[in-house]
Amino acid sequence: MPNIKLKSMTDTPAQPSQWKKILSASTISAQDLLIRLELDEHPLLDQNAPSFPLRVPEPFLNKIEKGNPNDPLLLQVLPQAQESLDIEGYASEPLLEQNFSPLPGLIHKYSSRVLLILTQSCAIHCRYCFRRNFPYSEHQQSRQQWQQALDYVATRSEISEVILSGGDPLSLSDSSLEELFDKIDRITSVKRIRIHTRMLPSLPQRITSRLLKVISNLRCKVILVAHCNHPNELANDTERAFLRLKEHGVTLLNQSVMLRHINDDAQILQALSEKLFAQGVLPYYLFTLDKVAGAAHFDLPRSEAKQIYKELCAQLPGFLTPKLAEEQPGDGSKRVLSNH
Ligand SMILES: *Cc1c(COP(=O)(O)O)cnc(C)c1O
Ligand code: SF4
Repeated sequence: MPNIKLKSMTDTPAQPSQWKKILSASTISAQDLLIRLELDEHPLLDQNAPSFPLRVPEPFLNKIEKGNPNDPLLLQVLPQAQESLDIEGYASEPLLEQNFSPLPGLIHKYSSRVLLILTQSCAIHCRYCFRRNFPYSEHQQSRQQWQQALDYVATRSEISEVILSGGDPLSLSDSSLEELFDKIDRITSVKRIRIHTRMLPSLPQRITSRLLKVISNLRCKVILVAHCNHPNELANDTERAFLRLKEHGVTLLNQSVMLRHINDDAQILQALSEKLFAQGVLPYYLFTLDKVAGAAHFDLPRSEAKQIYKELCAQLPGFLTPKLAEEQPGDGSKRVLSNH
């Protein structure tokens, strides 16, 4: 994912806010990361500079256990030599999203909702990311393209939900988001705005008072889908941010990806659901890994994923059990896998 700032969409405030300061310090060298974590070396580290650079903001770094090379949060951000292996069945663009993109930055795959790719930028770089090879340069939305995308939505009354995605849509400034929310909110056929973001576990300071104010003034219902994979990603900082979102009327959901050596265990997933609920968030989806080149070492066989899920279902009430699902190119919805 190239890390190019979209000039047209970024503000230049006199005083960068706290989250922007943390964000700008989040690209660090692997050596500095290891020093911070009191590790002399890491056997899995890619010694060459990876094309998808290491990026981890301070609030996420603080949740990594010092001296533990197998920490489940560390393994999500550490560039590994295995990423450059060419493994059959793992493609650079596994979801063929280009086939469902009638306009740059807009994906219309499921009839009632559209997905807007607003930015290529993220606060954290997750090594398993299915967008790591995404041709973002072809999907950089200028303001004019926003307007084209919103015109597309406005002329299709079957679209009741606009999903903001990326990259991480909350990488945009509050003023850019305010402008966009306002435009979407004027489209009367749209009832819901959904934000998919990994800012909560990685940079919860992103939930600013201004953003909350903008959201609470909208006609549309707002849903935030947090992307947390492990209970250790949740702490006092996420709890505060979730609470404030909730107080401003936002519905809180979470989606996770099942990842080898990170959360491929029913007890860990159970603890994740319990902790999410304690912070006001309901589990939504648990995805199997998208088969993206460079991420094969995070994958597990479907049969094993289903076995773990079966154990998870036996431990949790139905409302705390995420749907085990996968995405198949060409399907009209996410494909839900059963626990039998
Ligand atoms: C996942 C996804 C959605 C949302 O699907 P839900 O089942 O409503 O969460 C919408 N559009 C695209 C392109 C998606 O990949
Ligand atoms: S935050 Fe989301 S889009 Fe960004 S690198 Fe992580 S998984 Fe990918």
